[in-house]
Amino acid sequence: MSYFAIDIDTGEKHDVEWFQIKRKKVALCPICDSEIELRAESSIVTSAHFWHGKNSICTSIKKNRKKYEDLPASQIDKEAGKKLREDVKNNLYTIFLTCNALGEGLKYIEFKELIFKANEKMIWDYKGLQLNYIPYILILFHEMFYAKGSKLRDEKFYFVLEPSIKYFDDLWNKQQSIKQSIWKISPDKGVLEIIQIKQNLDPVPEWFKKATEKLVI
Ligand SMILES: [Zn+2]
Repeated sequence: MSYFAIDIDTGEKHDVEWFQIKRKKVALCPICDSEIELRAESSIVTSAHFWHGKNSICTSIKKNRKKYEDLPASQIDKEAGKKLREDVKNNLYTIFLTCNALGEGLKYIEFKELIFKANEKMIWDYKGLQLNYIPYILILFHEMFYAKGSKLRDEKFYFVLEPSIKYFDDLWNKQQSIKQSIWKISPDKGVLEIIQIKQNLDPVPEWFKKATEKLVI
């Protein structure tokens, strides 16, 4: 189930309403690239959404979500891992800020848990891993960002990678064939947002830039 799709003719991303207005029944999934079908338009119970068909492996579908902390690496590099650990330590605040923005208010105590998970799996030693991927990897480990009790989140969500990833290091070592994005998924609505992995750590999160645009000082 998804509320976003790619128009086959233009390659542009649009929401369900756009496809309804244009009377287009088939589109492409932004995650797995397969054809998806617009469904339940006349249903009162279920709002219109895109359907993958049976047996889809797409990670936008709740049951296909992977436990990313268990995704293995194809190669380990202990030497590079030592240096990366130092880099992570020196950039912890920036990494936290990025995680905080992605998770719409991820708390420090939750961030610490994610670091513990990363330590446990020794992801720092995954071959070729670079600093700019760290916030995205950490955020994939967080089980659910609940809306209840949060002032920033409109609905609960979690993050996924595209389904074809077999080894975690495919993400940074096979940049040509693996999409350099993470997807924000609602367990009820499917794809909420596509987030491009940035090539550098961004010290100022988007929500803060936006929130402070009109702040008079
Ligand atoms: Zn898909």
